[in-house]
Amino acid sequence: MMSGQIVEEYNPFQTVLEQLEAAAELMGLEDSYREVLAQPERALIVSVPVEMDNGSIKVFTGYRVQHNSARGPCKGGIRYHPGVTLDEVKAMAALMTWKCAVVDIPYGGAKGGVQCDPAFFSLQELRRLTRRYTAMIMPIIGPQRDIPAPDVNTNAEIMGWIMDTYSMFQGYTVPEVVTGKPISIGGSLGRREATGRGLTNITERLAKDNGLSLAETTVAVQGYGNVGSVAAGLLAEAGFKVMAVSDISGGLYAPEGLDLEAINRFLANENQSLCGYNAAGVEHLSNEELLRLPVDVLVPAALGNQITESNAPLVRARYIVEGANGPITPAADRILLDKGSLVVPDILANAGGVVVSYFEWVQNLQALLWDEDEVNRMLHKIIIRAYEAVVDRAHQDRISLRESAYVIALDKVVTAVKVRGIFP
Ligand code: NAD
Repeated sequence: MMSGQIVEEYNPFQTVLEQLEAAAELMGLEDSYREVLAQPERALIVSVPVEMDNGSIKVFTGYRVQHNSARGPCKGGIRYHPGVTLDEVKAMAALMTWKCAVVDIPYGGAKGGVQCDPAFFSLQELRRLTRRYTAMIMPIIGPQRDIPAPDVNTNAEIMGWIMDTYSMFQGYTVPEVVTGKPISIGGSLGRREATGRGLTNITERLAKDNGLSLAETTVAVQGYGNVGSVAAGLLAEAGFKVMAVSDISGGLYAPEGLDLEAINRFLANENQSLCGYNAAGVEHLSNEELLRLPVDVLVPAALGNQITESNAPLVRARYIVEGANGPITPAADRILLDKGSLVVPDILANAGGVVVSYFEWVQNLQALLWDEDEVNRMLHKIIIRAYEAVVDRAHQDRISLRESAYVIALDKVVTAVKVRGIFP
């Protein structure tokens, strides 16, 4: 298991600034625009008092940050985690701006979070926290303004509470204020699986482009939540050999490939974490060991800053597809590049979630429901088009996939800022 300290050693906002600066340098971007994009447009800090089940009151700190809205309303998830800080939320809001631009959907970037550990909350406490947090950020969210979505430790049920709270204040139902909702109240078919599905679409294409046979291509996935568990399942379904998966409790490893269906049944029935699972031929390993496995494809899909300067030299995967936001620090990125690893950056690899969130918003605005096949087909089209553009630009300019994705994204955002002009 990774210690919490590793996450704190690196300031995620600093990482984003370094990546921005590197891309701006490659493009020869004017200093004034670098300055515009280095800071969020708006950052709201709220205190969220919650009446706990035992009658006591606890106060949590929450954030909502809007990085840039030049290309459209802001969009981004909400995270409940003890490690949430203003700088982390600022970093992830900026990543959302680049992500929406790289896949070319008409949104700017935002992110939200509450510093708390929901593992210790009852369902009622979680609902009261969500409703109060929603009320506190209500002045800056809205269907044409800023549309939240799920992230770490938040799910469809929580998005439903956000939709309900916002709607109660409006006096009518507003499904399009949030995405990732339950299907019964305007969620999109395919949204829950979208991030893992987009990542799988990209990994299949990466394997094809690099002449890999799927049955012989081994995969390890760190993080077994929304992104990691869906990605592992769909990669296995596509024919990859998923040898290892992990969650916060540790990981499982089977050289011949894991039986993911059996693992999912165990998690659903026993309400347990992965460390409780036992089966013939399955070994237990730590998260740190998982990152060092001799697999072809590594998918970090847990938290940020997992591959750092200290463990990057030990990573043996030739291909790394970033399911999580910011799982590799800039120093580790340079080490991996020198070693010849190919990294598909977060802003491309995990963009499937926001693409289908966009579809959900469009369906809500038009009061329509698309078939799941249609959602998946459109997701594939958009994500592969973005992948091809990023790979082509990387080849053409002899730069990394991350640099290429950033250059493409920055170009679109700066164009929008320039076309609109600086107000007033
Ligand atoms: P989640 O809460 O559903 O799952 C997180 C998983 O990571 C869990 O299995 C948890 O046990 C594990 N984990 C937590 N701390 C860990 C640690 N220290 N070491 C190893 N594993 C740990 O969250 P999610 O929605 O799957 O998000 C995962 C990552 O993907 C985050 O970086 C998030 O920002 C990013 N992301 C999510 C979406 C989305 O649609 N949910 C979209 C794009 C990017």
